[in-house]
Amino acid sequence: MDLNNRFLPECVTDLIEELAKLPTVGKKSAQRLAFHLLRQDDEKIDKLAGAILGIKDGVHFCEECFNLTTERVCKICDNPSRNHKTVCVVEDVLDLIALESTMEFNGVYHVLHGALSPLDNVGPDDLKLHELFNRLESKDEADKVEELILANNTNTEGEATALYIHEHLKGNGLNITRIASGMPVGGDLDYADSLTLKRALKGRGEF
Ligand SMILES: [Zn+2]
Repeated sequence: MDLNNRFLPECVTDLIEELAKLPTVGKKSAQRLAFHLLRQDDEKIDKLAGAILGIKDGVHFCEECFNLTTERVCKICDNPSRNHKTVCVVEDVLDLIALESTMEFNGVYHVLHGALSPLDNVGPDDLKLHELFNRLESKDEADKVEELILANNTNTEGEATALYIHEHLKGNGLNITRIASGMPVGGDLDYADSLTLKRALKGRGEF
């Protein structure tokens, strides 16, 4: 127990400690969240606790794209009005959510659950890469995937992963594209790193 919290009941310090383990939540935020929760009525606490317990109950990966689902396939894969011939490769489910919120994409996804990173001992077998390659091969002619959009992050690991996929699949007739990325809105050219600028130039469109 933290010395500063020694005058608090153990259940409160336990809560603070558990909250502080969450990504982007530091000790201070954990304390603020804990005291916010202490002020809530039982019904709200039950709802939150129920929602947390609920994610352990039947949530698993979609058999097609590895998005989260409680069914065999996710809502996107199950939707016949989506274009199943265009598959967008993303690193994680948060990227899928970000792309969905643009409402610009009507294809389906493939979630890799990470990026290649030799320094962190993350190799091809640690990602859903074989599943991607199998998925592209096993389709019968009528619903064969025609375009693969590589929406991996534009950092070093994301670029390496996109390159790996491209190397593995090039020459098999599949149209492979990489999302254009570039300058953030309001971004100064002088502050952009060279990779960002290079991709901004390459991905330029008609004005
Ligand atoms: Zn799916």
